[in-house]
Amino acid sequence: MCGIFAVAGRPDAAELTQLGLFALQHRGQESAGIVSVAKDGAFRSRIGMGLVSEVFAHGEAKELSGQVAIGHVRYATTGASQLKNAQPLIYNTGHGPISVAHNGNLTNALQLKKKLEGRGAIFQSATDSEVIVHLLARQEGPVEDALIASLRQVEGAYSLLLMTPERLIAVRDPYGFRPLILGRLGSTHVFASETSGLTLIGAEPVRELEPGEMAIVAGGKLKTLKPFPPVPAPARCVFEQVYFARPDSTIFGRGVQAARRDLGRALAREMEGVQADVVVPVPDSGVSAALGFSETAGIPFEMGLVRSHYVSRTFIKPTQELREHAARLKLAPVPEALRGKRVLLIDDSIVRGTTSKKICRSLREAGARSVHMGVTSPPIVSPCYYGIDTPRAAELIANVHAQDEIRKFLGVDTLHHLSLQGMLRAVGRGDEAGWCTACFTRRYPTPIPDYQVAEAVK
Ligand code: AMP
Repeated sequence: MCGIFAVAGRPDAAELTQLGLFALQHRGQESAGIVSVAKDGAFRSRIGMGLVSEVFAHGEAKELSGQVAIGHVRYATTGASQLKNAQPLIYNTGHGPISVAHNGNLTNALQLKKKLEGRGAIFQSATDSEVIVHLLARQEGPVEDALIASLRQVEGAYSLLLMTPERLIAVRDPYGFRPLILGRLGSTHVFASETSGLTLIGAEPVRELEPGEMAIVAGGKLKTLKPFPPVPAPARCVFEQVYFARPDSTIFGRGVQAARRDLGRALAREMEGVQADVVVPVPDSGVSAALGFSETAGIPFEMGLVRSHYVSRTFIKPTQELREHAARLKLAPVPEALRGKRVLLIDDSIVRGTTSKKICRSLREAGARSVHMGVTSPPIVSPCYYGIDTPRAAELIANVHAQDEIRKFLGVDTLHHLSLQGMLRAVGRGDEAGWCTACFTRRYPTPIPDYQVAEAVK
C-alpha cells in the first residue's frame, strides 16, 4: 500500500510534503520520496529506502527547492522492495519531464506491460505504476489528455499524482477504491491520501476527490473534470475504514475513529450475551472498536496489552527465533489486568491467524481464565488486488479453514466475526452500497486479468 501527498504553490512545498508524508507513514514504510519542480523547471528529488525520518533524516527536504512537490511512501504490493521501484517515479517523455506517485494496484498492468514490451518499451521498474507512464508517453496532445487516454486503458485502483514543470494533476479511479483528499493552506492547493496529512501541516480539508474525478492545478488555479465513462457503482475499500487508515483521518466522508467505534458497537450487538469480565483491544488498530464494544456491551474496557513502538522491522527480521518472539516484543500482556479474568479480545481482522494465536497464548500465560475473540470484520477469504498487502489465498486462514478450525488454531474459547451486513451498516451509516468487499466476498468490482481468483478451498 502507499500514501501520496502534494503541495502546489509555496516555496516550502517539499518540506510541507515531508511533514505530510510523516502523517501517512502507516500507509507504507519501505521507501519514501519527494520530487519538486525548481525555478528552472528541472526536477529535484530525494527518494530512498526506509522511513520518512530515515530518508529525510538530515534536512534533505530543504534542499528540494520549488513551489510544487509531490511525495510518496511505499509498501510494496507489486514489484520488490527495492530502490528502483520506489516513488515518485521520474521520466523524460515527449511531453517533457513528468513525475508520478501512485497509490493502489492496477489489475491489468501485466497484460499491458507485455503488449508495451512487444512494441519495444523498456521498463525501468517492476511497478504497475510505470505502465501508466509508458501509455502516456505514447499519446499525443496536452499531458492531461494523454493521461486521460492512458488511464482509460488501465483497470483497477489508482489514486494518482502527476507533476510536470507546469502542472500538478491529481486523479482518482472511477471506482474510488483509494481515498484522495483535496485541501487548502491559504491559497495553496494540497492533496493527501488521508486528512491526517492535511491536519499536520495546518491545511483545511476541502473535499474528497470524487471517484473518477481529475483535478488540475496550473498557474495557481484549480480545475476539475470527470473524464471517464461512468461505472455501475463506486467501490470504496471498506478495509481502509476497518484497519488501514489512521483513526484521526476522515476518509470516504467518515471519521475513521467513529467508524471503528461503530464497528465495535455492531459487533457487541451481534455478540449479545457474551460472558466476559474485560474487553481488551489489540493495540493500536483494535482500540476504537473495543471502546465501542465496551460501551454497548457494558463490559469494562481494559488495556490488557501494551504495544511497544520501538521494535523496528529490521530488528524483527533477522532470525526465525526472533520472529517467533515478535508478537510479544510488540505486544506485552499486562498480568494485573488479565489474571483470573474472562477476556474478550477485540481485533479488526484475522489474516493468517498467526498474530492472534500468539496473543491468545500470551494472554493465557499472563493468567487469563478464558479468552474469547471478537473481530470487527468478516473472515478474509481472498487477496486484495487493489493495493492492500494480503498474502496468497492459500495463506489466508479463513480461505482454507472452517470457523471452528480457526478457533482451535487460535486457541480461543469462542470466536465471532462481524457479519458483512453489520460491517457495511456500521461503516456506511445508511450508505451500504458502493464498497469494495472483495477480500471478504471474492466479488471483485473490476476484471482482474492479471490474477486468478482462487476458488474456495473449504
Ligand atoms: P495475522 O496474524 O496474519 O492474522 O494478522 C492479523 C493482524 O494484522 C491484525 O492485528 C490486523 O490488525 C493486522 N493486519 C490486517 N491487515 C494487515 C495488512 N494488510 N498489513 C499489516 N497488518 C495487517
